[in-house]
Amino acid sequence: MTASFSFAPPRLPEGAEALRAEVRAFLGESRRTLGWEPNSNFMANFSAEFSRSLGARGLLGMTWPKAYGGRVRSALERFVVTEELLAAGAPCAAHWIADRQSGPLLLRFGTEEQKRDILPRIARGECYFSIGMSEPDSGSDLASVRTRATRTPNGWRIEGTKVWTSNAHLNHYAITLARTGPAGQSRHEGLSQFLIDLKADGVGIRPIVNMLGDHEFNEMVFDGVEIAEDRLLGREGEGWKQVTSELAFERSGPERYFSTFHLLDAAITALSGQVDATAKAQIGRLIAHFVSLRSLSLAVAGKLDAGENPGVAAALVKDLGNAFEREVIEVIRGLAPFVASRPEPGGAEDVSAALGRAVLQVPSYGLRGGTKEIMRSIIARELGLR
Ligand SMILES: Cc1cc2nc3c(=O)[nH]c(=O)nc-3n(C[C@H](O)[C@H](O)[C@H](O)COP(=O)(O)OP(=O)(O)OC[C@H]3O[C@@H](n4cnc5c(N)ncnc54)[C@H](O)[C@@H]3O)c2cc1C
Repeated sequence: MTASFSFAPPRLPEGAEALRAEVRAFLGESRRTLGWEPNSNFMANFSAEFSRSLGARGLLGMTWPKAYGGRVRSALERFVVTEELLAAGAPCAAHWIADRQSGPLLLRFGTEEQKRDILPRIARGECYFSIGMSEPDSGSDLASVRTRATRTPNGWRIEGTKVWTSNAHLNHYAITLARTGPAGQSRHEGLSQFLIDLKADGVGIRPIVNMLGDHEFNEMVFDGVEIAEDRLLGREGEGWKQVTSELAFERSGPERYFSTFHLLDAAITALSGQVDATAKAQIGRLIAHFVSLRSLSLAVAGKLDAGENPGVAAALVKDLGNAFEREVIEVIRGLAPFVASRPEPGGAEDVSAALGRAVLQVPSYGLRGGTKEIMRSIIARELGLR
C-alpha cells in the first residue's frame, strides 16, 4: 500500500482569535441590522447586501495580493472567517463560489487584465460566479463534457447545455468547461475554461426547483454565444488541469461538514435539561466527530498555505464531512420525537424546520462538489487500491 495521507493540523496564526472575535461581533450586528435568520447551509440564502458588507470589512479575497483587492492574509485566517460565517448561519450564497474557487482560479491562471478587472470586484462583494461543469449526460465523468467552443475571427463561439448550475439566475459569470480539441487517449486533453457573462446574448437560464421547492439551481443553455478572445481562462487545452485544481478548493472547506450544524445546535437547545445519559453520549460523540473533522479541514487549509495540492485530502474531508451531516440527522431523529416541518425560505428555523430542511436536502450534500463514490475512488487510488 502507498498511503500518503498526512493531516497535521497547523496552529492558528497569532491574531486569529482576535479576528474571530471581530467577525463574531460583526455578524451579531449584521443580523440585527439586515435581519437575516441563521441557516448553516452555505448556499441557502443569497444577499448581495450582506456580501458587500463582508467585502467592505476586508473579509473576501482575504488571501489575495493587495493589487487585486486582497488583504494578503493566510488560508488559516480565511478558515477562521469561513467557520464563523457557517456557525452563525450567515447568508453567504452570493459571494461563496467567487471567493472560494473562481477568484483563486483567476489568480492562478488568469491574465493580468482579467485579474485586475474581476478580482477587486469579488473582494468588494460585488461580483458573483457560477460553476459551469456538469451537463445533462456528464457529471461524475466530467471529461465527457459536450459543450463545445469553436474559434471565430474575434474569439470563440460556445454551444452546449450545462445543468445544476447554482444561482446562474443571480450571478454575473460562469466559469465554463468546454471542449476545444480532440480528447486524446486520456480524454483529458482538448478541454478549456471560459469566463462567460451570464447576461450575454444566447445564454438561456431555466430554473430547476429542488425538493424544498426552492429555485437554487438551473439549466444553462449556450446557443451560439459569441465571446471575445480574452474570455479564455488560462491556456487552451489545459482545462482539465485547471478544473481539477478548482475542485480542490471546492471540496476542502468547512462547508462540507457544517450543513446540519444549525440543526444540531437547535436540537441541543431544545433538548436542554431533558436528556438521559445515552442521549448525552450520542450528542457528545457527534461533537467529537465535528471537532475531528475541523482538525482535518484545518490541515487542508494548512496545505493550501504551504502551496501544496490538497486534492486527495480534500476528497477525504468531503466524504467524512458528508457522512457526518447525514449522521446528525439520524441521531437527532432517534433522540426525541421532533416532527419535521417545511421551512420558509429565509425564515427563522426552529428544530422542526431545521430538521425538515435537512431531510429534504441531505441527498444533495453528497452530490454537490462530487459524489461519495467519486471521492472514494480518488482516495482508493491514493491508497494504491485501484
Ligand atoms: C445542490 C447541488 C448543487 C450543484 N451545483 C452545481 C453547480 O453549480 N455547477 C455544476 O457544474 N454542477 C453542480 N452540481 C452537480 C454535481 O456536481 C453533480 O450532481 C455531481 O457531480 C454528480 O453528477 P451527476 O448528477 O451527473 O451524477 P452521475 O455522475 O450520473 O452519477 C450517478 C450515480 O452514479 C455514481 N457513479 C458515477 N460514476 C461512477 C463511477 N465511475 N464509479 C462509481 N460510481 C459512479 C455516482 O456516484 C452517483 O451515485 C450540483 C449538484 C447539487 C446536488
